[in-house]
Amino acid sequence: MNTTGRPAPALAVHEVTKTYAGDVTALNGVSLTVEEGELLAILGPSGSGKSTLLHIMGTLDRPTSGTVEIAGHAAAGLSDRRLSALRARLLGFVFQHFHLTDGLDATENVATGLLYAGVPRRQRRPRAEEALARVGLAHRTRHLPQQLSGGERQRVAIARALVNEPALVLADEPTGALDSANGRAVLDLLTGLNQEGTTIAVITHDRDIAALLPRRIQLRDGRIASDSATRADAWSPA
Ligand code: ADP
Repeated sequence: MNTTGRPAPALAVHEVTKTYAGDVTALNGVSLTVEEGELLAILGPSGSGKSTLLHIMGTLDRPTSGTVEIAGHAAAGLSDRRLSALRARLLGFVFQHFHLTDGLDATENVATGLLYAGVPRRQRRPRAEEALARVGLAHRTRHLPQQLSGGERQRVAIARALVNEPALVLADEPTGALDSANGRAVLDLLTGLNQEGTTIAVITHDRDIAALLPRRIQLRDGRIASDSATRADAWSPA
């Protein structure tokens, strides 16, 4: 809750810029609010600033100027240690290449999502198994990553992102390493999880994927070129 009495947005990015050495402006005055319960695509061609924005939204990198708040918590001014605690508690990440740990089974991989969130050890396995069931993998809990298909590995990664019930899941090209059938299944899964209440931002260069999501934000040259949420006729929150 904030002073308006309404829940704080899952994410509020205000006037963010990011410049890199060599005078490269990757982001140039980006403001963006993601309300709880939204599912959106952040779309743009290569070099438009998507990865930079993802890193800043995920508090993995700090902006040159501007502010980032996750569920009402300002990222600015926090030490690296407190920032990683905030990240562990409030954010979930899904990557294109899954980033699972080879020697750990599906349950153990998912449980790593609870390691830094202060969840007692004895609760980790049941919570991980519950998250695997939510992504349709109740029958694969003891499988190692190399015993799973690409689509199943991404489901494990999604379960890991969800297990701590974050305020926001950030998915970076989540279907990029999958064939179209598995990619579509992962997208359907994300849509279903959103319908159950999870707030999700998908970063993608793929217009076909973005077209399937209820809100689309288009980046170009480090700026927001369009946001379907600001056109009342194009989008309405479900
Ligand atoms: P996208 O993810 O849309 O491809 P990026 O956020 O990776 O875009 O890049 C935006 C711009 O910032 C590009 O011009 C890119 O070359 C530049 N850039 C990204 N990361 C760095 C970096 N670490 N150092 C210098 N320039 C960078």
